[in-house]
Amino acid sequence: MPVTSSPLHIAVVGGGIGGLAAALATARAGHRVTLVERATRFGEMGAGLQLAPNASLALDELGVLGAVRHTAVAPPRLVMMDALTGHEVTALDLRGTAYTDRFAHPYLVTHRTDLHAALLSACQEHPGVTLRTGHTVTGAEQNGLGVHLSFAENHAELTADAVVAADGLHSRLRQSLVNDGEPVCSRYVAFRGALPTGKMTGPMSRHAAGA
Ligand SMILES: Cc1cc2nc3c(=O)[nH]c(=O)nc-3n(C[C@H](O)[C@H](O)[C@H](O)COP(=O)(O)OP(=O)(O)OC[C@H]3O[C@@H](n4cnc5c(N)ncnc54)[C@H](O)[C@@H]3O)c2cc1C
Repeated sequence: MPVTSSPLHIAVVGGGIGGLAAALATARAGHRVTLVERATRFGEMGAGLQLAPNASLALDELGVLGAVRHTAVAPPRLVMMDALTGHEVTALDLRGTAYTDRFAHPYLVTHRTDLHAALLSACQEHPGVTLRTGHTVTGAEQNGLGVHLSFAENHAELTADAVVAADGLHSRLRQSLVNDGEPVCSRYVAFRGALPTGKMTGPMSRHAAGA
């Protein structure tokens, strides 16, 4: 929805799922956005991603749910399994009336790369978004007029009315703002991977999302 006051120029630092979603939402609200990403090209790594209905509602409001659904799967069941035995602990019916009466939006499973690609494509198509790769932010200084960003790359600089820090778990901007130290490791480790559905055995099912 367009803003009623003057449009602002907003800088977004980081071109992951968070930064692209923030850039798209800000541009769709009528502001001008410059997104800077340190990598020389946009890309996303990793495996699968579960999108609960609050996430698919947000994607709908960003105008990308159709593109995301194109490659996503809407499993009929969500199964919670015992981490040691693999036995089913409980399950949710994701297509029954209890679910659909409460949530208008689907529970989806997709690949991280596909979600990132849908958001990137929408940002590339939006006239209010400028995307710059190969820009590593080294610092942000705020004064009465806005925020000035400095970069590792020679001569690069950017001034904006405000900056959104979406530079990930080890955010440099978060440190410069709140300086609360490195993320704390919980010492619980989970491994994730992707395999063809034909190789799924036992309690795993191609017709359910597991957790
Ligand atoms: C194993 C695992 C499973 C998960 N499963 C789910 C799930 O099922 N559902 C779900 O919703 N979420 C899930 N998450 C969480 C979700 O994946 C992350 O929260 C999300 O991807 C983070 O996105 P981001 O854009 O904030 O950060 P990132 O993806 O880390 O992006 C940060 C970007 O900032 C750039 N950057 C960093 N520093 C600078 C700098 N100084 N200057 C310029 N650019 C910079 C980086 O290059 C990067 O592109 C999972 C996470 C993990 C680890």
